[in-house]
Amino acid sequence: MSKPTDPYRQWGRHAAHVAGWLLLYVIADRAALTHVPTGAALAPWNAAPAISFGMIARLGPRWFPAALIAPILAALIGDGVSSETAVRAVAETLGCVGAATALRGGAGERPDFGRVRMAFRFFGTALAAAALIGAARAAMVADLEPWRVVSLGGQVMLAHLIAILAVAPLVATLGPPRRLAGGRFAISVEGLFQVTALMVLAWEVFGRFANQEIHFFYLLFLPLAWIATRNGQRGTAMALAALYLAPVWSDRQFGHLDQSVIELQIRLGVLAMTGLLLGAMVSERAEAEARGLARQTELAHFQRLNVGWEMASALAHELNQPLTAAMNYTQAALRLIRAPAPDLERAATLTARSVDQIERVAQIIHGLRDFMRKGELRLAPNEVRDIVDDALRLVSAEANAAGVTLHAVGMAGVPPVMADKTQIVQVMVNLVRNAAQALAGAKTDNPTVLVSARAVEGAVEVMVTDNGPGLDPQVETRLFDPFVTTKEAGMGLGLSISKSILQAHDGRLWAESPPHGGVVFRFTLPLARDLDDA
Ligand code: ADP
Repeated sequence: MSKPTDPYRQWGRHAAHVAGWLLLYVIADRAALTHVPTGAALAPWNAAPAISFGMIARLGPRWFPAALIAPILAALIGDGVSSETAVRAVAETLGCVGAATALRGGAGERPDFGRVRMAFRFFGTALAAAALIGAARAAMVADLEPWRVVSLGGQVMLAHLIAILAVAPLVATLGPPRRLAGGRFAISVEGLFQVTALMVLAWEVFGRFANQEIHFFYLLFLPLAWIATRNGQRGTAMALAALYLAPVWSDRQFGHLDQSVIELQIRLGVLAMTGLLLGAMVSERAEAEARGLARQTELAHFQRLNVGWEMASALAHELNQPLTAAMNYTQAALRLIRAPAPDLERAATLTARSVDQIERVAQIIHGLRDFMRKGELRLAPNEVRDIVDDALRLVSAEANAAGVTLHAVGMAGVPPVMADKTQIVQVMVNLVRNAAQALAGAKTDNPTVLVSARAVEGAVEVMVTDNGPGLDPQVETRLFDPFVTTKEAGMGLGLSISKSILQAHDGRLWAESPPHGGVVFRFTLPLARDLDDA
């Protein structure tokens, strides 16, 4: 790929644009037929100025010299330059450059024909350009009878209006065809059917039955409507430019009457406007849908950030415990090392525990970062026993200090679960710490937190049971709402985050108050089925 800033490449591209422009212009100009209806030659199918209109709309007004040169070049190649050529060149340049620049609007951007407003602006500017060219033509034949001058100017205007409507959108927007990943071009079966339908009907209308008059023109609305509704403005622009060739060819073949040329042009104009509006509407809707989707994604991201914010607040809360524990272990280790008879063995054990806690901190931060970035969980098959062991190890210091016993039972034979281990350990730590804190504040005999697990239908259920004071009736029904707490230093986020984490795992979390006191928190996690298949 070339860099867009490479000036040589850019100039090369522009030179190719201008060369193509001049070539197309000369071909269109030379291919146009000449009728001689009113004593002054009329070229009713001359799409050459429409090409200049499209190119100025595409490249911008600073390319106006090409618009000026094109008609002179065409005259040089054809009948020779005359004073009429100069008038024509100036009128075309003024009309096309002025109108196409207006179409580009204040921002000076290539017009987006995929907007309904732009379609209307295009109709207006096309009419202005055509009117100016028509007026110049009328001025050239001012010595004719007045009504002839008006009629001739009107016909020239109509001819150029139709040509601009049909041809300019394609010239202004045509880009390289879409390519598939392998470098092949994207050709759809539907597209082939559309082209075939368009060709067959154009042949019916302009070829087979055509003589000097045109019948069945309305049939052409069918394939055009099909193309516009399915392909938006891009397809419509191509179909219109292709359709424009049909009357040019059939006029050459059959020599249509002047009156039928005018009728044909009016019908073609209606067809073009209908197609352009329909195409713009379809493109606009497709873009609105895409925008809606993007907004949804943004919203999801925002919601994740919101959860992220909650998690960040909770982070302070969650990190406090392992960091305090790590500090305590390290201080104890330091004391042992500095003692007159250092107990290095024990200091090493304490340091290892401290490292454990700090690793935990890193894991929490890491997990949070992943979650915020992608909203994704790192799911993997995990043994419930491993998760419970990790969690209990992390809370053991705090539990010991409060005189609370932690127990894990019934872990053997429990099938593995699909889980993001860090997150579920986080949930377990929350539940066990809550239980230990509830017990610490109460005068319970033999304060104990019991963790157990069992297989249930398609899942594993984990229970955290304590023999503490039970739930405060004030918060019982709002337990999982954020910022609900009965603790002085509590944030009330632990349970709400735990619930979000379990929901993200397709699991559930709920609390029960058994009749004999205490609280049971239960949660479920899906089975790691893949493990069985492997
Ligand atoms: P925090 O721990 O910051 O208060 P949580 O969302 O983890 O936030 O808990 C919310 C509230 O739920 C606690 O303040 C407490 O009142 C209650 N709670 C949670 N677990 C227990 C439990 N095992 N026994 C009694 N109350 C509990």
